[in-house]
Amino acid sequence: METGSFPKCQKCGKGDLVPLSDFGSQGAPIHYKAWVCTRPDCGYNVKIRNGEIYLNEPVLSGELHTRTPRREYTP
Ligand SMILES: [Zn+2]
Repeated sequence: METGSFPKCQKCGKGDLVPLSDFGSQGAPIHYKAWVCTRPDCGYNVKIRNGEIYLNEPVLSGELHTRTPRREYTP
C-alpha cells in the first residue's frame, strides 16, 4: 500500500484521514476499523463496528491516540 495517499478529510479539508487498526478479542487484527482526521481541532472520524458505519462519534479517551502530537499509526 502506498503511503502518503490518504484521503483528505471532508470536514476541514486540511487534515488527512488515516486508517486505524484494532485487535479483536481473539487477538486477530481488524484492519481499518476507524478513520480519523489528523487535525486535533477537527476530530472528524468514521468507525466501522459490526458492519455498521459510525460517523463522528465522540472519541473516547484511550481508544484513539491520534490526538497526541506524535503521529504514530500503522498503515
Ligand atoms: Zn478534519
